[in-house]
Amino acid sequence: MKYKLKKWCAFLLTCIGLIGFSFIMLFCFIDKNKSNVPSHEKATQQTQQIKPKKDELLTLVNYQNQIPDSWKIDLVKLSNGQSIDKRAYPDLQQMMDDARAQGLSPLICSSYRTQDKQQRLFNNEVVAYQQQSSSQEEAEEKASFWVARPGTSEHQMGLAVDIVATSNQQLDESQERTAEQQWLIQNCYKYGFILRYPNDKNQITKVGYEPWHYRYVGKEHAQKIMQEGICLEEYLDKYF
Ligand SMILES: [Zn+2]
Repeated sequence: MKYKLKKWCAFLLTCIGLIGFSFIMLFCFIDKNKSNVPSHEKATQQTQQIKPKKDELLTLVNYQNQIPDSWKIDLVKLSNGQSIDKRAYPDLQQMMDDARAQGLSPLICSSYRTQDKQQRLFNNEVVAYQQQSSSQEEAEEKASFWVARPGTSEHQMGLAVDIVATSNQQLDESQERTAEQQWLIQNCYKYGFILRYPNDKNQITKVGYEPWHYRYVGKEHAQKIMQEGICLEEYLDKYF
């Protein structure tokens, strides 16, 4: 009898020991998993909670929003004769320098445009669509998918640049495959620029895919927009 009791006690102690051990292991595992969250994910979680501040560089200009009357144009002239908003200039210069340091040859083919210039570009685009359209309105509608109507172009704000590869200056989807665009699409946010009209957002932007048109919004906003894979319209809806 005494022997049986001893055996039971030993069995009971073993069970308690095993359960205790399991709990300790479980807690260690949970704790380990917690601390295993990569630091960049932690940073993302934190930054998502911080609401960015709206500033003038986020001014939305699109098919529904004209450039505000109060918009001030303050330009810096580039060495190739193009002009860009003074606030975007240092980052643009740095982006071009860094791209060239990688052995690339990016070329700014368009930047600030006057109302007259935008009107001329738009008119030319409308003419190109007139033959395949049944009315002037239809031709203008089709044209506006590729060239913004005067008064609604980011180029008129001074905050947009069209950058192409020197080896391929075609404004079509082949741009995307150039080493210059691949680098720019990957890195533009570090310099405060976003790829403004991504391929999967034209239902929202109402502008065709332009893997050459970069819009300056400043580094903080550009980082969030590009990393979240959203367009400017979605960003403004989400955070403001
Ligand atoms: Zn453009």
